[in-house]
Amino acid sequence: MSNRRSFLRKSALAGALTLLGVGVWRRNESRANHKSNDPTGSIFNDSTPTVALSTWRFGLKANAEAWSVLSKGGKSLDAVEAGVRVVEADPQERSVGYGGRPDRDGHVTLDACIMDELGNAGSVAFLQHIMHPVSVARAIMERTPHIMLCGSGALEFALKEGFKKQNLLTPESEAEWRRWLKDARYTPVVNIENHDTIGMLVRDTEGRISGACTTSGMAWKMHGRVGDSPLIGAGLYVDGQVGASTATGHGEEVIRIAGSHLVVELMRQGRTAEEACREAVNRAHAMFVRRGRDLRDTQIGFLAMRADGQAGAFALRNGFSYARTLDGGDTQLLNSPFLLP
Ligand code: ASP
Repeated sequence: MSNRRSFLRKSALAGALTLLGVGVWRRNESRANHKSNDPTGSIFNDSTPTVALSTWRFGLKANAEAWSVLSKGGKSLDAVEAGVRVVEADPQERSVGYGGRPDRDGHVTLDACIMDELGNAGSVAFLQHIMHPVSVARAIMERTPHIMLCGSGALEFALKEGFKKQNLLTPESEAEWRRWLKDARYTPVVNIENHDTIGMLVRDTEGRISGACTTSGMAWKMHGRVGDSPLIGAGLYVDGQVGASTATGHGEEVIRIAGSHLVVELMRQGRTAEEACREAVNRAHAMFVRRGRDLRDTQIGFLAMRADGQAGAFALRNGFSYARTLDGGDTQLLNSPFLLP
């Protein structure tokens, strides 16, 4: 409770300082543990940091929404769900939820999962017609004895739970798909432009960490394809004692190394968040090379947070960004370090 009060006090103070034009960023920077070699910043010295991290530029709006939950004393589980729902509902974001690019047959199929610090988890894969797969995943977690539902069974469950059936294919995404069909010869492609996932990790005022991950997956994928994002251990993993990780990019490569679980295990062994993400990327890269694959059009990125709030990211290639909001509410969009030029 005292943490919550101090968070509310800090948030109110930060708001006042912002109004006065005083940056709160410096305050957080000076609190950072510069002994860490994590160039994306560490907040290791703060015993009760509240932190929101999420992938890509759309993470900025997700963090803002998550922060409004946290600033009312809300739980990290509610914050991650609320945060990623903003991106799921935005038709301008063409790789998540409503307005997501369809598969090669023109169907928008969604993957999502959610997990809390106790190991409670819910997941939904190959779900159609429902705007908020993350909330379906949470309902599976809270109202069934299972972790994961897929396809028509997941849809049936969602409708029974009162989720509304709707058309998720916007005219913009349909037009793009029709253009793709003309010269794609119906062959699924992987490239850096045709995907992106919102993965979000939050630590609340009580030190609880939760994560959520949601995507429409790779554009023009085969009907029925499921990526890493709904797979607990691949697209997301949370261990309240150790930390949490989420992934984005070429899902098949993340699945191959059980990526997010690997990152959490590496943090358990003492790595910082960034070191753990870097080692997971190295592992995926080595496997890719051993299989003789062409890496040119591939990207994977990991985002991680240790249980104490220390945060970091690492990607295969340049271009992966993530939004980080720290105690006080100040947010930055940061470029992840990367392996290949
Ligand atoms: N990981 C997602 C997938 O493979 C896509 C992405 O995050 O870019 O479906």
